[in-house]
Parts: sequence; structure tokens; C-alpha cells
Amino acid sequence: MADGVVIIGLDGVIRFANPAAESLFGRSSAELEGTSFGFPAIAGETAEIQVVRAGGPPVAAELRVVDMDWEGDPARLLSLRDVTDRKRAEERAAQLDGERIARVEAEAASQAKSEFLAMMSHELRTPLNAVIGYAELLDLGIAGSLNVEQRHQISRILHSGRHLLGLVNEVLDLAKVEAGRLSLNMGLAHAGQTADGALALVQPVAESRGIQVSVQHVDDIAPTYDGDEDRVRQILVNLLNNAVKFTDPGGSVRIDCGLTTQPDPEARLMGGPWVYWRVVDTGIGIAPAQIASIFDPFVQVERGHTRQSEGSGLGLTISRRLARLMRGDLTVRSELGMGSVFTLWLPAVNGAARDAARRRGESPGPASRLQGLAETGEALLRELEPTLNSFVARLRAEPVMPAAQSLRFSQLADHIGTYVANLGGVLIAVEESRGQPTGLVADGSEIQRLVAERHGAQRARLGWTADALRREWRILGEEIERAIRRRAPDVDDAAVNESLTIIARFIDQGIELSIRALTRALR
Ligand code: ADP
Repeated sequence: MADGVVIIGLDGVIRFANPAAESLFGRSSAELEGTSFGFPAIAGETAEIQVVRAGGPPVAAELRVVDMDWEGDPARLLSLRDVTDRKRAEERAAQLDGERIARVEAEAASQAKSEFLAMMSHELRTPLNAVIGYAELLDLGIAGSLNVEQRHQISRILHSGRHLLGLVNEVLDLAKVEAGRLSLNMGLAHAGQTADGALALVQPVAESRGIQVSVQHVDDIAPTYDGDEDRVRQILVNLLNNAVKFTDPGGSVRIDCGLTTQPDPEARLMGGPWVYWRVVDTGIGIAPAQIASIFDPFVQVERGHTRQSEGSGLGLTISRRLARLMRGDLTVRSELGMGSVFTLWLPAVNGAARDAARRRGESPGPASRLQGLAETGEALLRELEPTLNSFVARLRAEPVMPAAQSLRFSQLADHIGTYVANLGGVLIAVEESRGQPTGLVADGSEIQRLVAERHGAQRARLGWTADALRREWRILGEEIERAIRRRAPDVDDAAVNESLTIIARFIDQGIELSIRALTRALR
């Protein structure tokens, strides 16, 4: 029998034990017989008991008792079943259950935290845009001219405000990534073009620090990758900024970009081929002990008593997560005092896939679909510089504004940057305050109004007519629309159309206000 069987007399003394009982107790039947069973045995009842076994761990056993006769005397038959394995399985199941519940709770807590952070960042960012917008108005002298000290103080407000906005944007990005809310606009794009775009953005800072920056295209063919071009540029700009920040004047920073089927072993990648961008600097490098932690949030390498560099310690965290979201990776190799190499890897698109995409009418470039006014606003903010450039170029080419050719860029663009940036901010604020009038949207509108009035007065000084002014606003409207459509080629997108309607309303209001100001100034 698999079950142990023990027969005891009414006095509790063991009279018989079968082989299964012998192995359960770890004793022979001769040793067991004549000793007391030691546990009250009541007929008809089932109990779980611990059997202390000689020379082994205790065993959990299920005990059943029935009355019987044994050699003519009333006795009890005890059957003992080893339930140790079942007990263990039950305990393990309970433990797994507990772990699962703890995990679900931790995930919910982390999700709640990320949602809280995402919401807080919005709440922080929108008023910050108003702070910066008003500081820019003061800086433009719209409310009257400033003395040197006031100008200095306003520039400090602007500097700190923009820095804070940068931090808030990073926290918002990280929270979005963690909450799984970051939407990527995946598409085909040229690796070299993205590198050039990123380099152009950091070149002025690098040059002002005396650091040479360059892009080197390693392959003859232009590698194409699958990713969100804006996000790839964001990662590269972040790497380049770090490289410039941690390299002394006289040093150099380079991006090598190319195609490979054999990525560095430390990259967590499957399949291939891969497009890579290596950002190589001749800077201070990173000690081996620190290298693993720089991708953790809020980590900045301690450098003795020197002041910590400006920054949040979030840039690399976000960059690596973005890279992995796009099915790539971000890796680093560095040696203290010898410079660093950060490498971004993304899936390459081979010739056949590229041709197929071309046949389907897709072309390399960001294929995006904006989902809301806020995204449209953000797209506009990202397109600020190209928008200003093409706006000024078109003004110079217009026959209605002959003087435009001889005017400097700053005279033509002047406060238009503030106007367009604020427009982006207003779209974000409108989306975030949906359905409710808020002070933030009102602030945005007031900034638009003041800039438009100043614009009219300034154009009057340049000798423009009302017709020229009207034409200029139309050009600005067209360039803004072009910037948005560049990021959102999907014409039917309701959010894009809604954004364009709001922008058209602001432009109409701008025309009216600035023409009134122009007429007033000419009188
Ligand atoms: P931060 O905004 O502080 O630069 P990052 O996440 O981008 O945050 O970088 C984290 C830290 O990694 C930096 O503070 C710096 O100590 C180190 N680091 C990043 N890039 C470089 C580099 N090119 N050379 C040396 N150290 C670097």
C-alpha cells in the first residue's frame, strides 16, 4: 500500500506498522511496535499531523481513523498519507498569488505615479509658457523701453524660464514613456539627413565653446532607418549637447553614421541590419564604475568639488528608452580622460523594403499623424526655425514689399518667433483646458494681441502699406500651415483642421489689430 497503515490498541500503543508506515516514520516495524503512537486518534475524524521522522525532515501526513478488531481485541486502524508535496505546492501557489498581487499593485502604483507626473508636467508647462511669453513681451519693449538693469533682469527670467521649461519637458517625456503614453510617428528617414539636422542645432553652442563638430557618412549609400525622425533627432541632439558640454575648448565632436550587420555586443539587438550613429568626443570621459549608472534617471557623475553641470540627469534615460521603444538601443564606451563614444542603433530599412514603400507612395521622411491640438502645437514649436526662415525668404521675394530685400533678418523676423511660439503654446493650452475657459488661454491670446499691435506699429516705421501688411500675414499663415502639414501629411485629420481653424482666427485677429496699429502710427 502506498499509504502508511498503523494499528493501535485502545491504550494508544502500536501493534502493527506496514512498510509504508516504516518509511514514513523512518523506523522499522519492530522499533515502532510497542511504543505509544502519541497522537489522539478518534474514529471517523480526519486530521493533518506532523510526523517526526528519524534522521530526516518532518513529514506532513493526513490521518484517518477507523475502529476495528485486531487479534480479537477492539483496536483502531490509522491510515497516514504523505501530503508534503501537496502542501508545498499549495504554499508555492499562495506565494505566487501574493507575488502576483504585489506586482499588480506595484504596476498600478507606478502607473498612477507616471500619470500624476504627466499631469503635473502639463500643469507646470502651460503657465511657464505664459511666464516666458510675458518676459519676451517685456524684452521686446512693447510695454515701454527698459533700462540696462531691467533688461539684464528680464534676460535672467528668460534664461531660467527656458531652462525650467526644458526640465519640465524632459520629465513629461519620461513620464509619458513610463506610462506607455508616448506615441511615436514611425516612418522611413535618411540617417545622414537626421544627423545633419541634429548637428545644425548644436553647432552654434559648440562653436561658441571653441569645439569643432562634424558629420561623417561612413557608407556611400545613404542608409535609411525605420523610426520617428523627431525623436531620433532629439536623441542625437542630446548626445551632441552632452559631448560638447563635457569636452574642453579645442576638442572635437563627430557623428559617424553608417550601416552594419554586426552591432557592438553590448547592444541589446536582435536581427539586423542596423543603422548606427556614433557620437564621438575627445572630452573628459567616464570612469568604469560610473558607466552603468548614467542611464538611470537623475544621475550625474560626481566630479569632485566642481559645480555640477546644468541638466537634469534625465537626457540619457529618456534617450535609451526612446531608442528601445523604436526597437533599437543606445550604448556607450568611454575611458576616463580619453573621451566617450555613444552609439544609437535603429533598424535599417533595406533597398527592397524601401522600393516597396516608394511604390506604395510612401517616401522617406516623418510619416506622422497628429492626434490632438497639443501635438499640433508641439509640432509647430519644433518647426519654429524653418518656419521663420522660409517666412523671411518669402518676404524678401515679394514685389509688394520692395524694402524687404534690404532689411536684416532680425528686422523681418523680429517678434514673429514669439508670435509663432506662443501660437503653439495656445494650441497646447486649448487642448489641455478643453471645454473650460482658462486664464492660460486668455494669457496666450493677450500675448498674441500685444505682439500683433506692436507688429503694425513696427511695420509702419518701415514704411509698409496696409496691403503689404495684409500680404505678410497671409504669408505667415501659409508658412505656419505648411509647417504643420509637413508634420501631418494626413489632410483629413480632424485635429489638424481644428488647429488650422484656430490659427486662422488668430491670424484674422492679427491682421485687424496690426492694421489698426499701423493706421494709428501713420496718422
Ligand atoms: P544631464 O542632463 O545631466 O547631462 P544625461 O542623462 O544626459 O543628463 O547625462 C548623465 C550624466 O552622464 C552626465 O551628467 C555626465 O556626468 C555623464 N555624461 C553624459 N555624456 C557624457 C560625455 N559625452 N562625456 C562625459 N560624461 C558624460
